Amino acid sequence: MCMVEVEGKKRPQIACDTPVSDGMVVRTTGESIDATKRAILELELINHPIDCPICDQAGECKLQDFYMDVGCYESRLRTSKVHGKKHVDLGANVILDQERCVLCTRCVRFLDKIRNNPQLGVFGRGDSSVIDCYPGAPLDDPYAMNVIELCPVGALTSKIFRFKKRVWFLKSYEGICPGCSKGCNIYIDHHKAKYEKDKIYRVRPRFNQNVNGYFMCDAGRMLIEKINEFGTYPMINDKKSTYAQTVAAIQESLKIDNSTILLGASLSLEEMWLGKTLGSNVKVAASNESGFKDDYLKEDDRESNRAGAKALGLEFANNIEDISTSNFVLMIGLSKELVLYWIDKCKKAHIPFGIIHQEQISAGANWFLPMPYHWQRAGHYINCQGYVQFSDARLENEEPSLLEILFKIKNSTQMDVQTIFDKFVAPLLPKDSA
Ligand code: SF4
Ligand code: SF4
Repeated sequence: MCMVEVEGKKRPQIACDTPVSDGMVVRTTGESIDATKRAILELELINHPIDCPICDQAGECKLQDFYMDVGCYESRLRTSKVHGKKHVDLGANVILDQERCVLCTRCVRFLDKIRNNPQLGVFGRGDSSVIDCYPGAPLDDPYAMNVIELCPVGALTSKIFRFKKRVWFLKSYEGICPGCSKGCNIYIDHHKAKYEKDKIYRVRPRFNQNVNGYFMCDAGRMLIEKINEFGTYPMINDKKSTYAQTVAAIQESLKIDNSTILLGASLSLEEMWLGKTLGSNVKVAASNESGFKDDYLKEDDRESNRAGAKALGLEFANNIEDISTSNFVLMIGLSKELVLYWIDKCKKAHIPFGIIHQEQISAGANWFLPMPYHWQRAGHYINCQGYVQFSDARLENEEPSLLEILFKIKNSTQMDVQTIFDKFVAPLLPKDSA
């Protein structure tokens, strides 16, 4: 489909494999080249089901674009099409529809050349050729889901997204994956249906040559499963409460002498900066897991802004000695594992505590206040390479952002993310921040 006409050459040339030379004149449209493309497309569509109305790729499919551009709506074929399997579970959340495959082998080459893990191949000959896994070896590469975007048609679709939403309803904004300190750049696709909440349906990798290239890991994509299901509400002493009452309760807690505030190391720079101004004993609690790192993108540090906490000069809390003299502990935006760890420590040391978290964790807390998930909160992050990156938030829901909540607790005038960053955060960052 990339056929072009090169002046001086008798036949049409394939653009992707023709070296450019001095003075070369290339035509991408014209009577003869359009006819060539039309003929190729007709060949391409001989066995394609053209089931766009029920295909997840419809709306972002190259084959559909060509079909609409070039035509070929009337098939000249008088024999029945070759049928393939419509639902092959390859593993790793990827479903294959063999009929839609155009055998471009992008998926095969990604696993072979980029991942050095050849898990897919072309099996059979002629019009019986199909993509599949090798016998007894399912697709389980930790980056396998990248084949979903690499597939130019709807042959490889995502188990967690397919049939959930037509893509032309989705709006996108640019974000950062909070799954580890790499901070892969992503698109966040969301939609607000009438009378429903604005919901995130999928995340896709966004090209950044310096950080993640064109790809992201499957673990980062699967974070989507965590975010839309929380039906969170404020609580005081394990009883349902309102935002206003809970904020008032937090303000009272902050007046207790010797309160400790523990901030999560995946909060944004702006949230950490504001959290730091809420008390005199503010520390960062960060997880120290290992075993996630690999030789491609994944990093062992599962906190997405540890470097940011360091840049702001925050101290880290590691064990009970760091809070043992406290009369109250406030936990803001820690990972779930860490919240449970510190709750245990507080209970053993008989220290009252409050929690601000995206999941409904109360577990005997004096109060609990829900906060939106990472992708619903705009802010800057510093990744493990030292890049300062911005993650946007564009959902239309009415829940207050964490910054709004913290400004309310502090009882001071609200400021937007960019103002906080420019005025207060940027001057604190190292001069060589990329
Ligand atoms: S990327 Fe899609 S169209 Fe290309 S070979 Fe793989 S399954 Fe087929
Ligand atoms: S490598 Fe880390 S930042 Fe990148 S997608 Fe995976 S979990 Fe997210």
